[in-house]
Amino acid sequence: MARPTTIPCEKCFFTQDVTQEVNYLTGMWDYACSNPVHGETPYIWSVIPPSNAETSASRDSFLDGLGIYDDLLLCIHAGDPWLEYGVIEDRYRRDNPDEYAQLIEKYSHSARNSTRGGPDVQPSRSRKTSSRLSGALSVLAKAGLIDRAFGPASGYWSYNPRISRWAPLPSPAKEDLLTWSEYAAGEGLDPTRWELP
Ligand SMILES: [Zn+2]
Repeated sequence: MARPTTIPCEKCFFTQDVTQEVNYLTGMWDYACSNPVHGETPYIWSVIPPSNAETSASRDSFLDGLGIYDDLLLCIHAGDPWLEYGVIEDRYRRDNPDEYAQLIEKYSHSARNSTRGGPDVQPSRSRKTSSRLSGALSVLAKAGLIDRAFGPASGYWSYNPRISRWAPLPSPAKEDLLTWSEYAAGEGLDPTRWELP
């Protein structure tokens, strides 16, 4: 199974300042180059991994302690269509507000980034709450309990080049999809925003 490998920076072509990690939210490999030539903010880019890449996380003891694997399964209902990732995170936070607040505290959230209206001007690049929750969903998919695919992201989530979608088994037809924006509109939420506790 291929793991993210160090590749030269797209911009400066050096490798020594490049770090990489799996982004389970998008199923892509995220790279960052902290060569000072890029200024104070690292240059970041993402690549779609090779088809034999391992894109499943391993079970995490902190997430396990919060009961997240069981609680996420309850967010995907029998008969659901494919659910764009944001639908599941919204169901999870409504049903588990205390655990959700703990996750935001420990891992932060993309919505805290100042580029999306949050308070963090230079947030750390490491995997945040949504990537951790997607990693947990990938564990459930690998265990054969749910299905996973990737596709375009809608509304708030469209800062991602693509995003994970999840479904109960047996898998619905590909076009049978509930996007985040459709779901949010139905729930009376603003699809372009993500409200944090
Ligand atoms: Zn660079």
